[in-house]
Amino acid sequence: MASHPQEKKADALYAVVVVLTSLKQKVTSREDMELDPEDKDHLTRTFHYHVPPEMREGIDVGQLVGIPFGSRYLQGVIVNLDDTSPVQKTRDVDQIMDPEPVLSLAQIDLAYWISDYYLSPIQQTIRQMLPPGMLRKPQVIVEAVPDVEADTNTEAQAEILSLLREMGPLTYRQISRATEQDNWRSVVDQLVDHGWATRKREIGAPRVRPKRVAVVRVSPSYDAEEDYPSKRAHRQRDVLDYLLARGEAGKGWTPLRQVRKETGASYSVINALEEKGVVERGKRQVWRDPLEGQRFVPIQPPELTGDQDAVWRTIAEDLTEPQGRPFLLQGVTGSGKTEIYLRAVARVLAQGRGAIVLVPEIALTPQTIRRFGARFPDTIAVMHSQLSEGERYDQWRRLRSGDLRLVIGARSAIFAPISDLGLIVLDEAHEWTYKQQQTPRYHTRDVAARLAELTGATCIFGSATPDLTSTYRAERGLYRKLQMPRRIMGHRRILEEQREGLPEERIRFRPIEKEAMHAPLPPVEVVDMRAELRAHNTSIFSRSLRQEMEAALAAEEQIILFLNRRGNATFVMCRDCGHVLRCPRCDVPLTYHSSDRDLVCHHCNYRTASPTQCPECWSRRIKFFGVGTERVEEVTREAYPQARIVRWDLDTTRGKSSHQEILDRFMRREADIMIGTQMIAKGLDLPRVTLVGVISADTVLNLPDFRAAERTFQLLTQVAGRAGRSILGGKVIVQTYTPEHPAIQRASEHDYEGFYTQEIAFRREHWYPPLSRIVKLLYVHSNAQKAEREAERLHRILEHRIARLGLPQVDLIGPAPAFFSRLRGKYRWQILVRGKDPHRLLRHMRFPLGWRVDVDPVSVL
Ligand code: ADP
Ligand code: ZN
Ligand code: ZN
Repeated sequence: MASHPQEKKADALYAVVVVLTSLKQKVTSREDMELDPEDKDHLTRTFHYHVPPEMREGIDVGQLVGIPFGSRYLQGVIVNLDDTSPVQKTRDVDQIMDPEPVLSLAQIDLAYWISDYYLSPIQQTIRQMLPPGMLRKPQVIVEAVPDVEADTNTEAQAEILSLLREMGPLTYRQISRATEQDNWRSVVDQLVDHGWATRKREIGAPRVRPKRVAVVRVSPSYDAEEDYPSKRAHRQRDVLDYLLARGEAGKGWTPLRQVRKETGASYSVINALEEKGVVERGKRQVWRDPLEGQRFVPIQPPELTGDQDAVWRTIAEDLTEPQGRPFLLQGVTGSGKTEIYLRAVARVLAQGRGAIVLVPEIALTPQTIRRFGARFPDTIAVMHSQLSEGERYDQWRRLRSGDLRLVIGARSAIFAPISDLGLIVLDEAHEWTYKQQQTPRYHTRDVAARLAELTGATCIFGSATPDLTSTYRAERGLYRKLQMPRRIMGHRRILEEQREGLPEERIRFRPIEKEAMHAPLPPVEVVDMRAELRAHNTSIFSRSLRQEMEAALAAEEQIILFLNRRGNATFVMCRDCGHVLRCPRCDVPLTYHSSDRDLVCHHCNYRTASPTQCPECWSRRIKFFGVGTERVEEVTREAYPQARIVRWDLDTTRGKSSHQEILDRFMRREADIMIGTQMIAKGLDLPRVTLVGVISADTVLNLPDFRAAERTFQLLTQVAGRAGRSILGGKVIVQTYTPEHPAIQRASEHDYEGFYTQEIAFRREHWYPPLSRIVKLLYVHSNAQKAEREAERLHRILEHRIARLGLPQVDLIGPAPAFFSRLRGKYRWQILVRGKDPHRLLRHMRFPLGWRVDVDPVSVL
């Protein structure tokens, strides 16, 4: 890893720049690739640029600069300053795009770490860290040379030249729009060659810029005695009264648009006032604010419960004296983790520092934002994918200036420019959406830990079901584990009020004196679907589930039906004994390929013919498994025609706000049953839900991924967490063909420790993470044979390299077709590199075009 000076060198002659070239990564062609394609710094390559004397004063590490690069004009970020240059001839920095650095020193160090660890080019990492739309596009400008006699030899030349003469300098883009010629580029070349036109490269306008609007205010010289308009000019009076109500004379600029809208005044009224010198106009920068118009109702923090208090003391200590190890806060859903985050944020802000709070994109609902906004209304920024570029840019700049000091956002908010960072929180830290799925494929959890280390911030990873890796790290002392095993009963007051109409016998919990009390986790009933079949129930609803649904509907309570469709129904299972066909080598389920009727292992490419009988019990009822949400909806409508049903999955939530709409409808009790995929498993707090039915726990369990059991355990635990959050209590029913599976058993007993112990033993036995590390190499090509051949070729190269470097603790799994072996018409092959330190094999290796590198993949599908 490269190192950086932590302070600016006075009068440095050279700026060391990471050049942000176009997104197309420069790579060697496949044919060029030797057996051992070593290239030591291809991921972190920098260029030295000379700093002209007049720029030395203002130049700084972290700045965005405009620079010539080859024949192009590009931008780059200064990552270092240097007295000397490794090359003789250097070019000059052309301009400093923004005197304020776009990256802090800590962020530059972080970028180097990400590139090194995730094997991704640093320029791509840096791009990710900057707000979208900020980088300007290079452009070419062509201008006619004035006053020259042009002897144009073709009509094409004549046309372009007269265009330039009539319209003035034009960009390439403008020329291409103005002409119908196809080969206008070469015509421009000819004009330049003849000396009739000149061409220069420069940087275009930024896609986003600060927004400025027209504003008015009462003039500083305003005198109420003299200047107040006469009675007849009542329109003018309205405007003036309105402005005076918003601030005294000479203060308080008000957007013109707002004045017109609120008073109904036309421009001429305002012009008349301006002419008399009563008001003045100007232009002011305004912030595009995603939270505009939201009024946060401030709330008093509650008194902490005993569990919370113990956790809070430890964290508070770290906020004063950081120990440099992240906290793993394991607390069941509803145990009051968010309250802990709020306290920590309050403390950090009081210290004059800033905080980053990350939640999975899907959990970034107005509900969550409101909860933080209510505590910190004046300092909160939000960042997520649904902001406009302008909003994002403005939130970013307000954070950079220190105007706002708390950001709540999804994954990429980890790169928010917060100086003096004191706290990073990752809520629902086990969520695999924290892994970025494009280069750089970083895991937000690990980036957060690294950033905390670089800045001295405290780091909290909160989860009800920490991923195995995190718990493993906590066991080995890398994280500090804190626990809150009991659920706080929220909504006491709400339900106290609503209790009137409730049938007495349904009320399970009766809070008495204290504000907060604990509620037990809901009981989970595991239903054996094989037994249902034997009892001739072929419906997707077991008898138990039916019974409970009827009871809940009768009591006017709400129901969630959950299923997971990602499974794609491709594993093969015996309906009589629940046996699933697995790879003898990898112990993951085999996948059925309808094209050749083979069963294939997507880890190692083991193949076998699809059997017609179960190898365990010889039953012939062996079949491919799965149903979708739509089917469940149909069946539910048939069974309960009077019930109001909403479906919440990817198909029904395409629009911008439909997530919230569906949720709101359900919260307002305009629906009785919500049917959905894993989305509904996330942190929703729905007091009226008393029954959660899991249609099939098997779909995830039988994905050919070594994490299938872990994911099943997490999902079931999260889904179960949706039920019984109020005095009404609740129940969970899990339907499965494999009721004895440890993931299902332990989840039904809310037994995380038991599951962890069992699962870590499995990982140890098969040397899967976290006992080893995996790097997934994926190759995508439209030609099936080519994809296979290339995968085999890289495999040979890797084997050769392993032997040459003498790396006994690295092995290769595959090459094999990926689980999604053909996506969008392209064939996908993959190789898994597994080892204690796979970086020893892969670092410094330049991958041929078409390969995607994923370090610590969250899925090997
Ligand atoms: P988690 O983040 O672990 O899911 P929350 O912080 O959302 O848990 O807390 C669950 C419910 O309990 C919320 O309604 C919250 O307002 C309430 N709550 C949290 N802490 C307390 C407390 N100390 N006293 C009273 N209510 C609390
Ligand atoms: Zn069987
Ligand atoms: Zn296998």
